[in-house]
Amino acid sequence: ALIAVFFGYSLSISRLVGREYWARQHSQALLEQRARELETLSRTDALTQIPNRLKFQESLKVAWRDARRRQEPLAVAMIDLDYFKNINDSHGHPFGDICLQAAAKGLASILRRPGDMVARFGGEEFVVLMPNTDEAGALLVAQAMLDKIKQTYISQDGHSVLLSCSIGVSAQIPDHETPADILVKEADAALYVAKQAGRGRFLPYRSPDAVQEDACTPAEQAPFTAAA
Ligand code: GH3
Ligand code: MG
Ligand code: MG
Repeated sequence: ALIAVFFGYSLSISRLVGREYWARQHSQALLEQRARELETLSRTDALTQIPNRLKFQESLKVAWRDARRRQEPLAVAMIDLDYFKNINDSHGHPFGDICLQAAAKGLASILRRPGDMVARFGGEEFVVLMPNTDEAGALLVAQAMLDKIKQTYISQDGHSVLLSCSIGVSAQIPDHETPADILVKEADAALYVAKQAGRGRFLPYRSPDAVQEDACTPAEQAPFTAAA
């Protein structure tokens, strides 16, 4: 009888331990899943649901190292919606938010390659990362994105607007001397020139020396149109 009691007791103890073990495993898995969700959330723009600036910066660093190792070109495009303050002022901030969501969706719809990314850089600015893409390729993407934005007509509660944007493009094969954010700086400089030249266009980055050699001031630069 004692032996039977002993075995019964051992059995119930081992069952109890087993139950506790699996419960702990389950809560551990839940915690890990929650951590993953938070990780994704911290790298997603809340308004547009596309990657945010943090995610872009991280991806740029990885893509730059990758492109340097493979000696492949890497391209970045900076996109800024034109006269966006006017849209907010005329139609209200909530309508402006709808425009930003539509712009993000439209831009994302252009990208086809798995490594490509469009992120919200801040405000009404977006940034595109294009691995293994040279300037000519990036300009084709810029053309498609410009067309897409210019076709984005938003109409809601008696308010309507047709979007426009300006785009600056930079591409290069990375070397060890240059930091990754050169692409952002150059794309931003090209974007500035595109704005100065009248908006609603895209331009590749050209160094000030090259522009001077061409005896062409930024405002005189003709809008670039990619060959069909
Ligand atoms: P430009 O053609 O020179 O780019 O002119 P712009 O009016 O687009 O540029 P500006 O920098 O003067 O204004 C940007 C505007 O974007 C101002 C700000 O209210 C708006 N904006 C930034 N973030 C948000 C946002 O999250 N939601 C809304 N609705 N508007 C935003
Ligand atoms: Mg801006
Ligand atoms: Mg703007």
